[in-house]
Amino acid sequence: MTAIHAYAATSAKGALQPFEFDPGEIKPDEVEISVSHCGICHSDLSMLDNDWGMSAYPFVAGHEVAGTVVALGSDAKGLKIGQRVGLGWSAHSCLSCPECLSGEHNLCPTTQATIVGRHGGFADRVRAQWTWVRPLPDELDMAKVGPLLCGGVTVFSPLLIHNISPTARVGVIGIGGLGHMALQFANKWGCEVHAFTTSDSKEAEARQLGAHYVHNTRHPDALKSLSGRNPCPDPPRMAPQRLMLC
Ligand SMILES: [Zn+2]
Ligand SMILES: [Zn+2]
Repeated sequence: MTAIHAYAATSAKGALQPFEFDPGEIKPDEVEISVSHCGICHSDLSMLDNDWGMSAYPFVAGHEVAGTVVALGSDAKGLKIGQRVGLGWSAHSCLSCPECLSGEHNLCPTTQATIVGRHGGFADRVRAQWTWVRPLPDELDMAKVGPLLCGGVTVFSPLLIHNISPTARVGVIGIGGLGHMALQFANKWGCEVHAFTTSDSKEAEARQLGAHYVHNTRHPDALKSLSGRNPCPDPPRMAPQRLMLC
């Protein structure tokens, strides 16, 4: 098996340096991805610095991986060599516990993260269990996919979990990296989107990303006018033009 070429830190807060390792034979349930792009998430930095006390060195970060499938284990399902795929925070789960069987693989008691006890995507290749390697539509720009695989899914899942309908009124608190994506998802879904920020300087950007209203919570009266409002907007805000933007 050809060595994997990566960038690794050898100690907490250490600089990333070229690092090679032999991944061994591919496991039956694993997929090997040739990495074309990998995002940098703040969790990569927390792991790099051992902020959570669970980093192992040499440490290879990277859990917003975009690339193509180059090898499949004998039991890997649903993917083809050459397919465009993405890999996010999780890389393995048992597939047989109640959580895995109910579609909540991320809550599996034995779930393995892509960069915890494993080497991540700051490398030319990375491996993960087939079920965590997700096909990517051709329309997606591989250079922009990364954040969707971590922060993106983090803010997308609540829209599903809470059954948010296109007629809902959605508030996004904090317009940082995750908030940027949440505003776009909620807007494209058709919702009335409110951005809550502590900084006036973020207003223009929030509106550009899909906020219909921006509230600076440092202003004493900002929240008073919103008090008691329903999660569903008052008619007639669902103008046909807005629906057509979805
Ligand atoms: Zn992340
Ligand atoms: Zn499980």
